[in-house]
Order: sequence, then structure tokens, then C-alpha cells
Amino acid sequence: MAGSEKVLIVGGGIGGLAAALALSRLGVASTLLEQSATIGEIGAGIQLGPNAFAAMDALGAGANARARAVFTERLVLMDAVDGSEVAAFPVGAAFRARFGNPYAVIHRADIHEAIRDAAASSDLIEFVTSARVEAVALEGDGVRARLASGEEYRAGALIGCDGVKSVVRDMLIGDAARVSGHVVYRAVVSKEDMPADLRWNAPAVWAGPNCHLVHYPLRGGSQYNIVVTFHSREAETWGVRDGSKEEVLSYFSGILERPRRLLDTPKSWKRWSTADREPSEHWGEGRATLLGDAAHPMLQYLAQGACMALEDAVTLGAALKAADLDFAAAFRRYEAARIPRTARVVLSAREMGRIYHAKGVERLVRNELWRDRPLERYYDALEWLYGWRAETCLGTSA
Ligand SMILES: Cc1cc2nc3c(=O)[nH]c(=O)nc-3n(C[C@H](O)[C@H](O)[C@H](O)COP(=O)(O)OP(=O)(O)OC[C@H]3O[C@@H](n4cnc5c(N)ncnc54)[C@H](O)[C@@H]3O)c2cc1C
Repeated sequence: MAGSEKVLIVGGGIGGLAAALALSRLGVASTLLEQSATIGEIGAGIQLGPNAFAAMDALGAGANARARAVFTERLVLMDAVDGSEVAAFPVGAAFRARFGNPYAVIHRADIHEAIRDAAASSDLIEFVTSARVEAVALEGDGVRARLASGEEYRAGALIGCDGVKSVVRDMLIGDAARVSGHVVYRAVVSKEDMPADLRWNAPAVWAGPNCHLVHYPLRGGSQYNIVVTFHSREAETWGVRDGSKEEVLSYFSGILERPRRLLDTPKSWKRWSTADREPSEHWGEGRATLLGDAAHPMLQYLAQGACMALEDAVTLGAALKAADLDFAAAFRRYEAARIPRTARVVLSAREMGRIYHAKGVERLVRNELWRDRPLERYYDALEWLYGWRAETCLGTSA
């Protein structure tokens, strides 16, 4: 019987943990294979739209996340060339009333912990660390994963949650990455190190020519997350490494001193050379599918990658329930619900990067279009993204 079969989850990031939690809520056991020695997260912040809270609530982890999040007052876009405020919209009571949930920022380790805590009460999830999956295969009535150690795991189904360079995606889709040439530097600094006039309770974006800078508070304002992005002069390859202060300072010459000071603040940086992939019309076959960045790697400009992984997990659970735990049928239904929505986010994120990095006349057009725009128009424009609800996650065919 399908319901008694175990599921292999490859990857213990936000997506993999959320998937394991969604399965456990249906009474489905899983083995989560994580390549790192511990299940954890990098030291950086993350923004959570109201759709992420809707998903976290559906997974039973909403209260945990709320307890660790900073609820911001507004979202701000500043012009880094002339220092003017292009757009600022409050995310207080009216925003919550419209979208049913708040906008917040949180340390990545804290959201990871919020999901892990909710999952910890379940004895249906087996965590296996230092377990790098090298190959996966579909078998007649199940799946098989081979680790770098040579060890093999077999189960009734498999969910690839192994991030942007997914081994499972290689097997199921086998497509190439689209390296953006955009490089992101990230750091978390203490409140004392943050310029006092930029300690805003808001995710703030300073938009400059071919670059932008973001800052927001974490952990009750005791820390600040700084993320800066620029168009690289180098031929980039997709990956993460330590950043160099010299490199980051060599960009951003076209912006004002006020946001530029952010670059002097961190003692060390991590450097991401970013990429996404063309949205795929299919994510899996038989008893295998993808979730999170493995399914829809995206550029970071909409701050929605993790939010989408959380929505994926809720939708996967709903599809499994609707299909009475028939894995193959449920996975196809899940994919049908998720592929168009996540593709829209991937494509919109690319466009948002262009808007943030506008220069010359395009910058003036952006500012003209966004300045003095009534709040309701921003809310209407964001309805498709922030208005997601767990109850309707399978769409009209539910
Ligand atoms: C600069 C930047 C800023 C961002 N800001 C936001 C934001 O504000 N809001 C937001 O919602 N999203 C944001 N994102 C996106 C978000 O970080 C990701 O979408 C999210 O972390 C995806 O989670 P995941 O679990 O799918 O993948 P990951 O977090 O990458 O987790 C994958 C896991 O799989 C493991 N793994 C990989 N390969 C294997 C293997 N072969 N075998 C076993 N384990 C394996 C990895 O070790 C890892 O633990 C941002 C991303 C970047 C780069």
C-alpha cells in the first residue's frame, strides 16, 4: 500500500525540511539525506512575504517563525544616485488585512530552526547527515539513491530538494544553468557596526546603475543583513566563495556616499555568482519530483525563493492527500499546480533585477512610474504573489 512506503528527500535546506514536515503531517515517513555534517543554514537574512507565513501556518510552523521574525514597518526603494525615495509602502495593518499575513525578515538559521522544531516532534523523519547523493534512479515500483560513500537507499518515492545544483534535477531534466553575471555579496553585521542613519525597520533597496544594495534588521534589531549586487566584469561561473573587500569596493562608484558606506561595514563577506534556469514544463517522472531551488532556481530580486519552497511543500502535501498517497499521481498534480506559478516568479525576478539596476533614461522612467503610485496599486500588483492561500493551493482543479 502506498501509504506505508517511505520517501527519500535529498537535501535538508528550508525546502527539504518543509517537505519532510508536510509528509509527516500525513503520516508518511521520510529519510532526509543531507550532504553537510549538520542540518543547518548559512549566516544571512531572508525576507518572508505574507505567502510564506500562510505556508508556514499550514505546516504548523507559523508560530515558531513569528516568534523569531522581525516585523518590518514598510518596504522602501531609494535611488542610490540622487538619494531620493522612489517608493515606500507600509506593511502594517492595511497590508496584513489585504494579504492576511505580515511581511517580515528573519535570520536564515532561525527559520530553519522554526521548521526543524515543528518537525522534531515527529518520529516519522529520519535525518541522515554527511550523506551526499551522487546518483538517483527510478526502479519499477520505487526509487534508489546512491551516496558518495557507496551506500544505497531505496524507498517508494523521491523528492529532490538539493538546491540550485541539484543532482536529482540532472537526472530528471538535465538542463543547463543560465549564469546571470550578477554577483551578490552578503554579510550580517552587529547593530553597533551599522550606520546609525540606516538602522531602518524595513527591507530597504538602494537602486543604482548595474547594482543595488539591500539592508534590513535581524534578531530584534541586534543585527543587520547587508546584501549588495553588481554586474561583474569577469566571466562568471555559478558558485559561492569568500568575497574580497577590494573587489566589492571596486564596483558602486556611481552611487552616493550614504549607501556606499554600507560596503565598509562588514568584516568579511560571502560572494555568490548567481544563476537561474529556464523554467521547465516538467519536474519529474514516476515517483520522483523536485522542490524548492532544485525545481525553480531563481535570481534573488523578488526575495521569494524560500517562500516558494514553503508553498511547494504545502502543495505537495495537499496533492498527496487528494491522491490518497498515490505518489506518481500526486507528484504530477503538484507539478501542474506549481510549475506556472513558480515560472512566473522566476521570470518576474529577472525583470525586477533589470528595474533595480536601471541606468540613464530607464532609471528616470522607473522613478517616474513608481513615485507617488497609490498604495492600492502596489497592493493590486502584488496580489498574485502575496495573496497565495494554502486552501486553494491545488488551483481550480482541487
Ligand atoms: C543572495 C540571496 C538572497 C536571497 N534572499 C531571499 C529572500 O529574501 N527570501 C526568500 O524567500 N528567498 C531568498 N533567497 C532564496 C533562498 O535562499 C532559496 O530559494 C532557498 O534557500 C531554497 O531552499 P532549498 O531548500 O530549495 O535549497 P537550499 O537551501 O540550497 O538547500 C539544499 C540543501 O541540499 C543539500 N544538498 C545539495 N546537494 C546535495 C546532494 N547531492 N546530496 C545531499 N544533499 C545535498 C545542501 O547541502 C543544502 O542543505 C535568496 C537567495 C540568495 C542567493
